[in-house]
Amino acid sequence: MQSFRNLRFTVTRMVCPKWCLLGIWVVFWHAQSGWASRHFKIEKLSDGVYAAIHIEGGDAICNAGIVDLGEKTLVFDPFISPLAAHDLLKAAQRLTGSPVVYVVNSHFHNDHIRGNQVFAPGATVIATSRTRSLIAQHEPRALEAEKHYVPKQLEKFTAAYNKSHDAKEKTEFALMVDYYRALSESIPHVQTVLPVLTFEKELTLYGTRRNVRLVAFEKGHTESDLIMVVPGEEIVFTGDLLFIDGHPWLADGFPESWIDILKVIRGMNPTKVVPGHGPVGSHADIDNMIHYIQSLEHLIRQRIQEGRNVDTISPRDMPKPFKHWHFHTFLPMNVRFMADHIRKDLK
Ligand SMILES: [Zn+2]
Repeated sequence: MQSFRNLRFTVTRMVCPKWCLLGIWVVFWHAQSGWASRHFKIEKLSDGVYAAIHIEGGDAICNAGIVDLGEKTLVFDPFISPLAAHDLLKAAQRLTGSPVVYVVNSHFHNDHIRGNQVFAPGATVIATSRTRSLIAQHEPRALEAEKHYVPKQLEKFTAAYNKSHDAKEKTEFALMVDYYRALSESIPHVQTVLPVLTFEKELTLYGTRRNVRLVAFEKGHTESDLIMVVPGEEIVFTGDLLFIDGHPWLADGFPESWIDILKVIRGMNPTKVVPGHGPVGSHADIDNMIHYIQSLEHLIRQRIQEGRNVDTISPRDMPKPFKHWHFHTFLPMNVRFMADHIRKDLK
C-alpha cells in the first residue's frame, strides 16, 4: 500500500495535469478495493461524495451518486438496470460502510429509476410529487411497449455497429447498443417501485457528517426535475437537466424555462457538476448547455423563417462545441421537437 502511494505521488508530480488526478484516484480505489464494476467507474468528488459514471459496454446508462451522510448513505439515480444497481449498492457499502437509507430519483425517465427495486423497501425512495405521478403513469405503458420495440432496436443498432468502419460512428452506435441491451436484459426482472417520500419545492436530508438539499424545478428536462446540492462542497448532481459532451434529450422538455433553471444552477457556482450523462464537469458545462439550447432554437427559427427544410439539419450545422458531441442520434428528434415548439410559438 505504501509503495502504491509513493508511486501515485511521483507520477502525479512528474506527468499529471490537474484533470488526471481523478483518473489516478479511480485506479487507486479499484486497486485497493480489488473490485470494479463493468457498468460504471467511481469518481471521488470529496471525502464521502462520489459519482458513478456509466462506462461503455455497461448497463448503467445514466450517472449515479453516492453520498455518505454519516452512519447512513444516499444513492442518487440508481441506473436503468437492476443488475447495474446491484453493483452500485456494493460500491456504496464498500465506500461508506453504512447502509443505503435514501434513494433519490431526479425525474421519471426509465434510466434513472429502474434500480429502485434493489434498494427498496430497506431504503426510502424520494422524488418530487409530480415525478412520482409520472412514474406511476408512464412505467406500465413504457415496459409493455419496450417488450415489442427494444429487440428490434437492439438488432438494428448492433447491425449498424458491426457494419461501420468509422471510429466516431461506432462509438455512437455502441452507446445505443448499450441502452437497448441494458433494457432488453432487465425488462423481464423490472418491478416498478414508486417513491414513498415526496416533496414539492425543497427537501433537506440531515446527517451527522453532511446534509444534502434536494431542489425541485418545474418544466425543465421534464415536467418535474430535481437537483441534489451538497452545501459547503460546491457539488451539484443535476440529473438530465445537464448533459456534458452529448446532445441532451429535449423531447419531453420546455426549452425556455429549462434555460432559466440552468441559470439558477449556474448561479450556485458549483465547482463539480455531475450530469445525467457524460463526464463530471464544472459550471462552464452549464453555460455550454444553455448555449446548445439557444443555438438550436436560433438555427431552426432561422430556417423556418427562410422557408427552408429543417429535417436536413446535422451536427455539422451546429456551432463548433456541439459538432462532435455524443448522442447525435438524438439530434433529429431534438430538431423535430424544437421545430414544432417554434411553429406553435409563431402561430
Ligand atoms: Zn431524462
